[in-house]
Amino acid sequence: MTIKTDVVIIGAGPCGLFQVFELGLLDIKTHVVDSLKKPGGQCSELYPDKPIYDIPALPVCGAQELVDRLMEQIKPFKPEFHLGQTVTHLEQDEAGRFLLETSTGVRFDTATVILAAGLGAFQPRRLRVKGAEAWEGRNIHYKVSDSGAVAGKDLLILGGGDSALDWVLELHGKAKSITLVHRRIEYRAQPASVGKMKSLAASGALEEFHGNVRAVFEIDGKFGGLDIVGPEGAQYTIHADEVFVFWGLSPNLGPIADWGLDLDKRQVNVDTEKFQTSIPGIFAIGDINTYPGKKKLILSGFHEGALAAFGVQQHIHPEQKVRLQYTTTSPIMHKRLGIDE
Ligand code: FAD
Repeated sequence: MTIKTDVVIIGAGPCGLFQVFELGLLDIKTHVVDSLKKPGGQCSELYPDKPIYDIPALPVCGAQELVDRLMEQIKPFKPEFHLGQTVTHLEQDEAGRFLLETSTGVRFDTATVILAAGLGAFQPRRLRVKGAEAWEGRNIHYKVSDSGAVAGKDLLILGGGDSALDWVLELHGKAKSITLVHRRIEYRAQPASVGKMKSLAASGALEEFHGNVRAVFEIDGKFGGLDIVGPEGAQYTIHADEVFVFWGLSPNLGPIADWGLDLDKRQVNVDTEKFQTSIPGIFAIGDINTYPGKKKLILSGFHEGALAAFGVQQHIHPEQKVRLQYTTTSPIMHKRLGIDE
């Protein structure tokens, strides 16, 4: 099934979320796609607990708090979120509309596209050691697709954050054995999860190991496990049937680089009137765009979103004259915001 719409926003970071608001004020409904399973982009993924001090009128605001506030602010406009999927394909038809497809097969037929894709789609940090690539998807994994499939197997779980620790605790008792490998003694995961893991390790129910992965080892052409260098420099060979890598996520511009847009290094060139790209109907706001004087700040992205909304409106309804209206005094704005008068 193809979803027909006026706007698809690619990216649910702070700028993509505020874009929903600005389009909502102009009575334009939005679909928002993000490769992450939750909205918030860098704020939620990279620094949720850190305070931000340069959001206008909020002397201090936690990064996740900012995302929560934006989600609250856009509620009246009922955006439709399509999370946990990456927009992988974009093409333009003869009528000038855009056909998008996501990694889970959702398709859009849309009049305009807003790229609010930041530094790119967040993807798992890969195990880049000798021999690893050939075993990815076979014995080296970046997610657990079927926790039942680990029964009777020796597992190596790599990482020290919440995902690694959560999976250690979840798979413990299901797998034959689990060795958790983390490069440092300190963990980033919730202290409660670390405490549970430590007591399981103390009881001998799992192994805790500190070191850096150096290579994959094979036995007679079959996957054997990993070579790991311990903190004291000694090399260890640890057998495993399956390796799960939970080293967090890092952004990657990915398919956007191949959509024929005018790029400057890995940024999308835009005008500063509407924040439109070299392809009319595709706009770009936030960290993904560039123009003379660009600063990668959330407040810059908010401004860009406001002007891009008017650009979208003009693109969809070139015949309509758009009047600027204040949210304070305009009855139309109040109606759109769902404010009782
Ligand atoms: P992002 O937040 O990067 O969100 C982009 C989203 O697009 C991501 O969720 C990504 O998964 C998604 N995406 C990308 N490609 C695709 C695709 N093909 N399909 C589906 N989804 C896709 N800025 C400030 O103004 N003040 C600060 O104090 C501040 N502190 C910071 C501290 C740290 C540690 C960091 C890392 C950044 C900080 N920043 C700060 C920068 C700020 O976070 C960014 O400017 C802001 O997040 C950009 O927002 P965005 O919406 O453009 O992109």
